[in-house]
Amino acid sequence: MNPKYRKTVIAGNWKMNLLPSQLKDYADALKGLLGKEHPCEVALCVPALMAVPLLRHLRGSRVSLGAQDVSAEASGAFTGEISAAQLKDAGVKYVIVGHSERRALHGETDELIGRKLRRVLEAGMTPILCVGETLPQREAGAEKEIVRAQLKLALGDRDAAAMRNVPIAYEPGWAIGTGRTASPAQAQDMCREIRGAIREKYDARTARAVTVQYGGSMNPANAAELLAQPDVDGGLIGGASLDPGKFYQIVETAKL
Ligand code: PEP
Repeated sequence: MNPKYRKTVIAGNWKMNLLPSQLKDYADALKGLLGKEHPCEVALCVPALMAVPLLRHLRGSRVSLGAQDVSAEASGAFTGEISAAQLKDAGVKYVIVGHSERRALHGETDELIGRKLRRVLEAGMTPILCVGETLPQREAGAEKEIVRAQLKLALGDRDAAAMRNVPIAYEPGWAIGTGRTASPAQAQDMCREIRGAIREKYDARTARAVTVQYGGSMNPANAAELLAQPDVDGGLIGGASLDPGKFYQIVETAKL
């Protein structure tokens, strides 16, 4: 982390877990633990159905609301989709785009992810752009090439000013939901690579300002070492964010 130059962002990704009837207990527990001040930006990316009630339950806290996906279209006849304008109007601040589960299970391409990213920025929200290699790609030694290509295609012609408002989450597919975590050295190596790619595409100032998170089985036991890496500016946390106590403990490690 380097809070002098960039925001540390700890974001939970609930995926398709928890129920609307559990929101109040979750929010009360997290608010009680966090209090009014926390050392970094904290967000919860929840199923769209739960966004509005969760925001109500989070009132009085500084926890931001996030969504897990968005349509690449503006509005209209797209049954089942949710637009960026709808998310913005509901009070959503962060939107995950390009999560590895969307890429692998829903066939999302870098081109589609780039269109979603643009919608989120145009609506005045903050996209969290996920990039990362699969296990076969890492075994073939292609992880850096893959992540650089994902960044290039998804960022397209976004300018440097827009880019400073795009946290990037490095999420190796082999570490997501598997209990297998990248070592702090692997996470640092890839987050530094991502910052290097931003420097080459834009400039040193933009690269220094961009938040690069790590995601992949981060938990209270491994968070401190991961977040202590100079280029790891936070986490995207799946499983451990389902428990407000564990999520709080990860936020607390961002104090280091
Ligand atoms: C994720 O969903 O982005 C994630 C990192 O999940 P987990 O922490 O469960 O690996």
